[in-house]
Amino acid sequence: MSIFESILDIRNKFDIDIQNSDDNSASIESIRNKYLSRKGTVAGLFSQMGSIDASQRPEAGKSLNELKSYITASINKRLESFNGQSDEDSEYSDLTLPGDPFPGGSLHPITLVLDEINSIFSKLGFSVAYGPEVDTDYYNFEALNIPKHHPARDMQDTFYISDDVVLRTHTSNNQIHTMENHAPPIKIIAPGRVYRNEDVSVRSYCLFHQVEGLYVDKNVSMADLKGVLNHFAREFFGQKVKTRFRPSFFPFTEPSAEMDVSCFFCQQKGCNICKYSGWLEILGCGMVDPEVFKSVGYDPEVWSGYAFGMGIERMAMQRYGIEDIRLLFEGDIRFLRQF
Ligand SMILES: [Zn+2]
Repeated sequence: MSIFESILDIRNKFDIDIQNSDDNSASIESIRNKYLSRKGTVAGLFSQMGSIDASQRPEAGKSLNELKSYITASINKRLESFNGQSDEDSEYSDLTLPGDPFPGGSLHPITLVLDEINSIFSKLGFSVAYGPEVDTDYYNFEALNIPKHHPARDMQDTFYISDDVVLRTHTSNNQIHTMENHAPPIKIIAPGRVYRNEDVSVRSYCLFHQVEGLYVDKNVSMADLKGVLNHFAREFFGQKVKTRFRPSFFPFTEPSAEMDVSCFFCQQKGCNICKYSGWLEILGCGMVDPEVFKSVGYDPEVWSGYAFGMGIERMAMQRYGIEDIRLLFEGDIRFLRQF
């Protein structure tokens, strides 16, 4: 068989193959492989070029190139004939299949705890108040009966913007803003960020969240305060939780107390989290100091009230068993995905 007869023979075989091919890319690609790949039929013919008579070579080369072009063009045309209709290539193959899952976000543990605290106090008639995170010395310290020489005012503990302006060290500045702008009675909680110039460690961070509570009315007593906080503890930690109040000191309340709840990790048998005491400290509270009422123009002979404040990070860490406070600020998706 001369090379010209071989070319004609291959072209006929190719025509049959391409006509009988299935309407999918895989079928066409296997034909392309058979004829056009490096070890395919056409390449095989090219390798015979060296053995044919020199006078025939130009003609044979031309015919071979024409065959290659013909096969390439036929394959492309065949692919186009069903393009967009084959199962593999179609973008809209089956509209009834479920879509690709879209990763859902989750709420940050701080947000979860804040929302829950807000919800518990809202049901008791507390409204939510917000105040500035950058405030003057007066609102953060002076009006709250924190005197000039108090260690909390030290540069070591507080971020100063200027001599008279600070990043608030507690949400208690909201008490003063609220009482200046509203006549009693007052019943608010004030959630928000606060800042302390502390070394970052497993247990402390330079930024954290507090919720402040303030209730001012006539004849408010320590019993009212204990009643509200006991209710809160049962709602938040469960009906079986026990509470205790320990005497404490804060410049803006008198008397002052700290509230502990029974450790719900060990049922008071003693564990790492409660440091084997059986109790977890969760908040500070007390009756509003008459000096604070005087600074906002309330008559302390007429009005009385209580205030409390709690750290949200500590509550979140206790609730979810988080051992490193820094996890709450790092934004690590592997951690956040668990909530
Ligand atoms: Zn414990």
